[in-house]
Amino acid sequence: MPDRNAAPQERAVFSFWGGGRGQILSALRESFKEYLQDRGFIYAEAPPDHVRVVFNLIDDKHPRPYRRKAQATFVVSWAEVGERPADVLRFGYPLLIRSLSNVLVLFLPGADGPETHFITPEQGHYTLRKRPTDPGFLDEFYSRLQPIITSQLVIDNEFHPDLPEELWHGDELTEALHRAGQRLDRMNLLPAPFPLEEVLPPRDLRHLKRLYHLGGLSYGNMSVRRDAGTFWMSASGVDKANMRVVGRDIQLVKGFDPERRVMLLSVPPEITPRRVSVDAIEHYLIYREHPNVGAIVHVHAWIEGTKATEVNYPCGTIQLAHAVADLVRESDDPARAIVGLKNHGLTITGPDLDDIFERIEGKIVPTVPMA
Ligand SMILES: [Zn+2]
Repeated sequence: MPDRNAAPQERAVFSFWGGGRGQILSALRESFKEYLQDRGFIYAEAPPDHVRVVFNLIDDKHPRPYRRKAQATFVVSWAEVGERPADVLRFGYPLLIRSLSNVLVLFLPGADGPETHFITPEQGHYTLRKRPTDPGFLDEFYSRLQPIITSQLVIDNEFHPDLPEELWHGDELTEALHRAGQRLDRMNLLPAPFPLEEVLPPRDLRHLKRLYHLGGLSYGNMSVRRDAGTFWMSASGVDKANMRVVGRDIQLVKGFDPERRVMLLSVPPEITPRRVSVDAIEHYLIYREHPNVGAIVHVHAWIEGTKATEVNYPCGTIQLAHAVADLVRESDDPARAIVGLKNHGLTITGPDLDDIFERIEGKIVPTVPMA
């Protein structure tokens, strides 16, 4: 297993990119560069292929992406905006997508001086307490970025065309997943407020699908156990209200190779498979540890009073998977746990899908608290 408690990758390389301008951007670029170097990060004037994090300084009128050469590269875009938008999330979210970023940092004018806002792919939106000119700002800024730039994605898939023929067209469990997706849709828990095709030119859309771990913006995922070692799970970026085809909409996860950090999937022959949801590693850890968990649902929604992870790790990272698995383990009944993912959503376990829906219906609200 990769060591999740490993120190931040001290030899990680970072670079700056892009031509975005502004007083805060220029000052922060210099001070944060020094700050990271003091912590052992290595600065490269031009990003090498294996660069760990690229700070992409963008112009909010013409956001240009940094095109990653490696999936493991995190892109954090910064934009300094002269006028405060009425709705910061609606303003910032398309910039995050168009700049193909893992997180967007917006510097906006506020009543008492400049404010620092973070926008995440999960539609997270939170504000730093300190102003960029305050003492201690860099510590707060780094503490929010550190989990993002030092975590490890487990999003590679290996497809084995060895699915038994009697499962090529699914079984009663894939049928249950299909119905659960429709149920989430009826509960209005499958929002897709920014159609990607309208925000992104085709070239960026292709880039997004190939390199960026959001296969599409269809939030949430669900899975159901098939036997001791395998589970069915929704594929990445599919319309969860209409999941049918095995290998395309629903995948059979049969294992995880910790050395190569690859999810192993069993697919029918003669299909161009889609990647499984990026949270497959999280579900894998939970099923493996708790034999009485039969189904898992993840939504970008909230239930009041839910205990949440302390750190906002990105989707699809081993760190997020362990943080969620830890909370499931600590809950009163791991087979019926409701766990919060900070600034992100809920992961709910149950003996089966119906049990999960019976427990959440009427209690779940679409707005996730942000801190
Ligand atoms: Zn999520």
